[in-house]
Amino acid sequence: MLDSLLSEYDFLVIGGGPAGLLAALTLSASKTPYRIALIDKRDPWREPVSCAEAVSKRGLEALVPKVDAEWVRGPIDGVFFVAPDGTRVDFEKKDSGLLINRALMHKRLAEESHRRGVHCNFRTRATSLSKLENGFRTVKYEGEPAGELRAKVVIDCSGPGLGFGQGENITQGNFDVEPALFALVEGLEYPTNYIQLFFGHNYAPGGYAWLFPRDKQVANVGLVVGRDYAKDAPARQAMKHFIETTYPGARISTVQGGAIPCGFPDEPLAVDNLYKAGDAGNMVNPISRAGILEAMTGGKFAAEAALKTIAMNDEKDRIVHYAEYKARWEKDYGNSSRRIGKAKKAFMAIPDSVLNKAAHSLVKIPPHKRTLARIFLATMWSSPSLLWKMRGLFSVK
Ligand SMILES: Cc1cc2nc3c(=O)[nH]c(=O)nc-3n(C[C@H](O)[C@H](O)[C@H](O)COP(=O)(O)OP(=O)(O)OC[C@H]3O[C@@H](n4cnc5c(N)ncnc54)[C@H](O)[C@@H]3O)c2cc1C
Repeated sequence: MLDSLLSEYDFLVIGGGPAGLLAALTLSASKTPYRIALIDKRDPWREPVSCAEAVSKRGLEALVPKVDAEWVRGPIDGVFFVAPDGTRVDFEKKDSGLLINRALMHKRLAEESHRRGVHCNFRTRATSLSKLENGFRTVKYEGEPAGELRAKVVIDCSGPGLGFGQGENITQGNFDVEPALFALVEGLEYPTNYIQLFFGHNYAPGGYAWLFPRDKQVANVGLVVGRDYAKDAPARQAMKHFIETTYPGARISTVQGGAIPCGFPDEPLAVDNLYKAGDAGNMVNPISRAGILEAMTGGKFAAEAALKTIAMNDEKDRIVHYAEYKARWEKDYGNSSRRIGKAKKAFMAIPDSVLNKAAHSLVKIPPHKRTLARIFLATMWSSPSLLWKMRGLFSVK
């Protein structure tokens, strides 16, 4: 699946993660036979993908033509919430989510794009992007061979960090970036259909730690640390402490890091035929840190907007569709992301004693009567001042 790149394309998608793959698939579904390229600096199915791989089942089903059984490691039937003192609150919700095999999903979606005529080149790193000149943006790339191409529209899905379009009036994936780490571990016992989330400063200050099963033998154990805490509690140190104290019998095979750009800053998602989607557009949920479906939705919406603007020569006409792209994404995710982002500081600073108190009262409720709303409210009532601090959750602006 390594196509030679042409010197000119209608659309170039940079990055073959969830955002880029959905962008490429959406573009390739157009009846017009556009010239489309999808590049990634590495094979997007290289294992392990930097992720815990949990998604909502319904959300994924709504985005892809078919959720192939081979991408699915297993169902998520509930969550174990673990308080700082180790009290475990079980929350059951059958079939609510999926643990996916992202590497395989990436591979199959890339193959499908390729089958539909997208030029895929997966060992090619974009190194620079020019401004729009005479209807084209020029991209330089490294790889074998290195080169240069021009594209009428570029969709930047290159993940977190300062991506392309720096200096232009467009968002970057560098807002509230948090460090995350995960290890693939063996030697533990756990139900494969439950994810486990650990809250508290002793586990992961400002964030949370997790165990997400991959199968019966291997689990993904990791954590994300809040940006404000990352200096005092470097993620590596927190991770070492978490595994040593919680899973002393763990046999670690791989440790890998990543960055999570949280929240949704109010900046344009597109300018001059450059679109941002996924982590490159800062689309991650600030508290759950989920970004897979957010990225896929962003990639799809960006491509749909780009298909409308490609034939427009005037930026004034294109702006309407840029705004529509942003509004669509805001309606699905962005508005709630912004609200959650406002409450995040208070949420992540909830004292361990409050979390423990909430957990103690929740375990007294029969499991079948526990709802997420009840868990949330029990935590709030354990410290009513939190309700005031988290008022951002309930206001639109
Ligand atoms: C440890 C960890 C655990 C997570 N767990 C979950 C989870 O369980 N559920 C969830 O929903 N979200 C999770 N996330 C967040 C989720 O992984 C991201 O939000 C999601 O991957 C974003 O998709 P994307 O396509 O925007 O970016 P990415 O998946 O980062 O894809 C970007 C692609 O661009 C390529 N690229 C980068 N630069 C260039 C370049 N210059 N030229 C060419 N290619 C380039 C990269 O190689 C990569 O393949 C987790 C994140 C981390 C770090």
